[in-house]
Order: sequence, then structure tokens, then C-alpha cells
Amino acid sequence: MKEVRSWSATLVSMPGKSGRVIACRACSAELCGTDASWKEHAVLRESPLREAAGATYRSAGDEVLLRRFYCGSCGAALDSEIALPGEPFLLDRLAE
Ligand SMILES: [Zn+2]
Repeated sequence: MKEVRSWSATLVSMPGKSGRVIACRACSAELCGTDASWKEHAVLRESPLREAAGATYRSAGDEVLLRRFYCGSCGAALDSEIALPGEPFLLDRLAE
């Protein structure tokens, strides 16, 4: 229970005050418990994909968004995904 385990390339799971938590790999700031959606506890920045990616994505519809998730403590980039407005976050995790 005490060991730090890899959750993704940017996140780890580790012991917290009340069970295992997901934390930023860079600064160890806790985001939430391992049974929660960590993206709901990260800093979210949404921008139109066309603005973020430039001419490469001119064919993308105007509504397509690039979502970027950051650590609220150190600002490390944690993940990104492409979505339409209002779509739920993609749930991605490594099996423990
Ligand atoms: Zn951090």
C-alpha cells in the first residue's frame, strides 16, 4: 500500500490520507482518489483545435476542441484529448 505506482506517463497512484490517490508525477500534488475521474480535478483549458494546431487541422470542424489538462499545483501538462463541446472526458487509466 505504501509504494508509488505508475498511473500514466504524467500521473502516479500513491497512499493518501484516506486510501490511494492519483497524484502529479512531477510534484506529487494529490488530485483525487483512484476511484474518481482525475480530469475533473485538474486545471482544464479548452481551445478550438484549429487555433491550437494551425493549418494542419484546417479540415476540422469549427466546434472541435483541444482539451489540455494541467496540474493545479505545478502547472505540468498532464494529458490532452480532442472532443466536441459537452462531451464527457475520456476515461483512461492503467490497470493497477
Ligand atoms: Zn504537479
